[in-house]
Amino acid sequence: MAEMVANRITDIGPPKYDEMWPEIIKNNYGKWLHHEILEPGVLVHVAESGDKLYTVRCGATRLMTTHMVEDYCKIADEFCGGYFRFTTRNNVEFMVTSTEKLEGLKKALAAAGNMPIGGTGHSVTNIVHTQGWVHCHTPAIDASGPVKSVMDALFDYFTSMKLPAQVRIALACCLNMCGAVHCSDIAILGVHRKPPVIEHSHLDKMCEIPTTIASCPTAAIKPSKVDDFKSVAVNADRCMYCGNCYTMCPAMPLADADGDGIAIMVGGKVSNSKCMPKFSKLAIPYIPNEPPRWESTVKAITTILEAYVSGAKRYERIGEWIERIGWERFFDVTGFEFTKRHIDDYRFAATTWRTSTQFKW
Ligand code: SF4
Ligand code: SF4
Repeated sequence: MAEMVANRITDIGPPKYDEMWPEIIKNNYGKWLHHEILEPGVLVHVAESGDKLYTVRCGATRLMTTHMVEDYCKIADEFCGGYFRFTTRNNVEFMVTSTEKLEGLKKALAAAGNMPIGGTGHSVTNIVHTQGWVHCHTPAIDASGPVKSVMDALFDYFTSMKLPAQVRIALACCLNMCGAVHCSDIAILGVHRKPPVIEHSHLDKMCEIPTTIASCPTAAIKPSKVDDFKSVAVNADRCMYCGNCYTMCPAMPLADADGDGIAIMVGGKVSNSKCMPKFSKLAIPYIPNEPPRWESTVKAITTILEAYVSGAKRYERIGEWIERIGWERFFDVTGFEFTKRHIDDYRFAATTWRTSTQFKW
């Protein structure tokens, strides 16, 4: 142990951000004049020096083998001096400095078969997503499975730029919302519909009871003695199945094959372009888990996109389009049922209710 501590290297941080820059980026850092999207997935940046940097963006699965990374490295070695990068939405970008190299690169990517070019401009780009059943212990849905199913259905929107504006889709497998579901044009969110099961005989041994009680947003948990075990009780009428108590306390699992499923939210954005950033709002409270292809979820997202494409003005994001036509019209044009579950009933709910006579029949 003492030896391990003696030889331990710590607090060295990541490699410096410019260590892995291609030469052209080093030379023109902070001196870019303008850029253009030449075609779906292909950009050119022009520097003050006259240098031109061509970028080809490819869809990626995020969860990938080292063999896949090796394949990226081979392409980068052949065309890009050994450099490539990942975007904030987990696409992969290869950069070259001439149109000749660009053509060779595009051919090589097409030949690879699993490096589709796209994701720029007014497209559906990669889906920001989470661990799902691959790795996390609190999910209500899978991540990689629904993402593959949705991207298969929307693939044409990834490789083209024919939408009114960019459409960001995100998925989180529980409402910890790791990632971007709260601020995306379309969000796929894993939800539970049953309260936790309490394992009274283990609870006090595994969980800190006050922390568990404090984790509940609706104060549905109280201390309780059950069969001489120090434990907790849940008021099921106050529970809205968030799963936060299970995150704190492994003796309160709530995953359930029939209860769990997907909620769809719409209308969020993070940019300040034209209007302030927006949270996404509930469009569909529940769609069952349907592995492996999640057909109903795919259909719901396709319905939203088709309604948006036929109704939105150019440059209008989904949230801007909905606010212009009104939420009641959004439910009309999508055919989604409006239910009591759509009505906010948490703390500052009144701020989301209509305090105006303006509405459409
Ligand atoms: S969203 Fe929830 S279930 Fe998914 S990775 Fe994050 S914490 Fe885990
Ligand atoms: S699931 Fe959420 S609402 Fe229900 S008891 Fe646990 S923390 Fe409270």
